[in-house]
Amino acid sequence: MVPDILAKPRADACAATVLGGPTVVLDLGGLRIVSDPTFDPVGQHGYLTKTMASVATEEQLGAVDVVLVSHQDHPDNLDDRGRAFALAAPLLLTGPISAGKLGPPAAGLAPWTTRAIPRPDGGGELTVLAVPAVHGPEDGERDADGNVNCEVVGFVLSGQGLPTVYLSGDNASIRVVAEIARRAPAVDAAVLHAGAARVSPKFRGRPLTMDSRRAAAAAAVLGAGVVVPAHYDGWAHFGEGRDELELAFDEAGLAALLHAPEHGTWTSLRRDA
Ligand SMILES: [Zn+2]
Repeated sequence: MVPDILAKPRADACAATVLGGPTVVLDLGGLRIVSDPTFDPVGQHGYLTKTMASVATEEQLGAVDVVLVSHQDHPDNLDDRGRAFALAAPLLLTGPISAGKLGPPAAGLAPWTTRAIPRPDGGGELTVLAVPAVHGPEDGERDADGNVNCEVVGFVLSGQGLPTVYLSGDNASIRVVAEIARRAPAVDAAVLHAGAARVSPKFRGRPLTMDSRRAAAAAAVLGAGVVVPAHYDGWAHFGEGRDELELAFDEAGLAALLHAPEHGTWTSLRRDA
């Protein structure tokens, strides 16, 4: 079943839905934005095993304005069909190293740089701010570029009259979240890549993304009013799913923030909704 994914975004819609794995659709400022697109079928993908398909196909999403790619290196965040989808989008934003590897028309945004996108809703521009991410433990081995695991960027989306939305990408670091809370516009809604992804023996099997408790801590540090978790099911290397997220947010006293409905169901990104 593909509920309202097919419907065109309303001009006033500020909502997100998870399609499965890391893939999220956001309708914001009249723009349809897709982050970390993955559409390949279940099965073996390189060294990783996909266990659940996206609830929507590329065609069912209709016209997309922007694709955001947190990193291009890992098949659970950007698979073959996701790559083709991203490269065909009117605008593809990612980190500078990923942009170089993806090739044109991918545009690389270094952390703390922005790109302004005209909004079809008449509200001016949507500002996309790239923010840092650490794809594993803080003391994990650094690659030649100085990144743990590989370059990953998150994004903060903001604009007049819109909720400010943070997309974490594959980030495991609360230090980075605290830096974003200090330096970026105040976050209303956070799309957090959780799931406690572990790929042993990489970093002794320690999580490459947030576990559920760290996601609850990130929500508190950000002061977010809405949390939409992504990257918590659909792959065999994800150690924690919806149940663990619900438990962790409840134990932190933050259950009201967590919105983890069935994939394909919209969640409002407005704090007061
Ligand atoms: Zn990754």
